Amino acid sequence: MTECEPVRASWEGIARILQAENAPDAEVAERLGCRESFVARVRRELGMEPWPVRANTGVRWPRRDAHEVSEETRQRFFEQRKVTDDGHRRWLGRHLKDGTPLFVSGQTAYRVAFRIGHGQDPIGQIRVECEMPHCVEGGHLSDRLMRDQAVQQRLPGQEAHDAHA
Ligand SMILES: [Zn+2]
Repeated sequence: MTECEPVRASWEGIARILQAENAPDAEVAERLGCRESFVARVRRELGMEPWPVRANTGVRWPRRDAHEVSEETRQRFFEQRKVTDDGHRRWLGRHLKDGTPLFVSGQTAYRVAFRIGHGQDPIGQIRVECEMPHCVEGGHLSDRLMRDQAVQQRLPGQEAHDAHA
């Protein structure tokens, strides 16, 4: 937990963060000011599972409009969430009655988490794909578009496993 030590965006710097806390690619990239693809490469070269592990359906991200999240929004978002030991994010801010984390009135923390995590606007309902209820780790969230694509791309794979004697 040596957060105070500045880390450069070197292969080693990224590797150190990944091995210490396995933060999502987007977050590591943001912290070090480097490209997400660089972080993904280091992760691969370390032999680590791609992030997110749970929500990774092997589906390529559907193309859609990129969504820039303002620095102020990011800041406010990061202040209100807590990283748990196992990589989930707990929301420290307000919640709706049903437990849905609320960022600001009329906007759930899920939507902001999704935008920060994926750099894209969520389409349709957002669902938490991991085992922690109300997790606000962007990489653990899926939107309708992702789920639709996951279903479509899984269909051919099922045939391959259908070698029933
Ligand atoms: Zn989670």
